[in-house]
Amino acid sequence: MDCLFCKIVKGEIPSTKVYENEYVYCFKDIAPIAPIHYLIIPKTHISGADQINGENSHLVAKVFEAAAEIAKSEGITDGFRIVTNCGDNAGQTVKHLHFHLLAGVKMGWGPESLGKID
Ligand code: AMP
Ligand code: ZN
Repeated sequence: MDCLFCKIVKGEIPSTKVYENEYVYCFKDIAPIAPIHYLIIPKTHISGADQINGENSHLVAKVFEAAAEIAKSEGITDGFRIVTNCGDNAGQTVKHLHFHLLAGVKMGWGPESLGKID
């Protein structure tokens, strides 16, 4: 399968590793939109959040466990946001489930952060 993030997990494409365990891999986003911008992915290929089910949802729990550990180990004490984009309207560009961990800046929230809603 021709999947960029599967290749990153296998080490076939270089990445800047932040954290790794048996289930998940975390690396720096190549085009950060916040002072801290990591991607946390399950090592197993899941194409997106719309493919999470009873068989694989334990991997999502592993991602969030890793996020809490990473926040501690990286000294992220002022809060963080985790985002997953799914499908075209959300702007998903890589079809391997990934969670953006954003931190290091006060972030906006509300309709204006999503663009026009009417
Ligand atoms: P999304 O748009 O939600 O699918 O997020 C994909 C993310 O992957 C974007 O933030 C990209 O900057 C990031 N990205 C793409 N290629 C690489 C790469 N080779 N190494 C690290 N991050 C990447
Ligand atoms: Zn993949």
